[in-house]
Amino acid sequence: MDRAIYILLGAPGAGKGTLAAIISKEVDLAHIASGDLFREALSKGTDLGVEAKKYMDKGELVPDQITINMILDRIARPDCDKGLLLDGFPRTLEQAKALDEALAKNGENVTKALLIDVSTEEVVRRLGGRWICRDCQTPYHEVTMRPKVEGTCDKCGGQLYQRDDDKESTVRSRLEVYTKQTKPLIDYYGKIDKLAKVNGEGESEEVAKRLLAVV
Ligand code: AMP
Repeated sequence: MDRAIYILLGAPGAGKGTLAAIISKEVDLAHIASGDLFREALSKGTDLGVEAKKYMDKGELVPDQITINMILDRIARPDCDKGLLLDGFPRTLEQAKALDEALAKNGENVTKALLIDVSTEEVVRRLGGRWICRDCQTPYHEVTMRPKVEGTCDKCGGQLYQRDDDKESTVRSRLEVYTKQTKPLIDYYGKIDKLAKVNGEGESEEVAKRLLAVV
């Protein structure tokens, strides 16, 4: 199959979800977000969701095998034939290698890994006051991006909520997990000449433009 496969890399709070939504629309790619898949499974009460929640609540990663199986299953569906943008996966070297192996079986490989570069101070500031729409997942911020009507999404009128794992202590462990387990992926994709680094600070429309320039 000849499809583009992009990976979005970046710390929690770097803006992956928002940017992935803009880019996948502009370039017509299937937006596959591992965190959203886990949250969806949880809201449906499936075994996968219940299992994943144990880790998500602590800010830890869901075990590789569960995550890899879920993603490989998902990217084999027909809506991914047009190309895909992976958001939040891979997050460990094991996952990156499993993805490469699975793609190689189809004669495919990763097109590019896009790193959204944001300072740790900025990430902590963003995650601290984050609210998300229950229906369309648009993120808001208590200080930097308030909705017009408190508690309500500007785009779809959905109810805003705060993710359990956006609480301060969980944010800290998610950042530690990122540094230890996900940052090595920057080197991994850099070494095989697949890494594109983009400045992730500023308005999301601006950052999206920078990303679109390298896609
Ligand atoms: P996110 O919405 O991408 O911030 O993900 C929320 C949570 O889901 C993470 O903190 C992890 O517990 C879990 N998760 C999402 N993607 C992965 C992944 N690729 N590997 C392991 N756990 C993941």
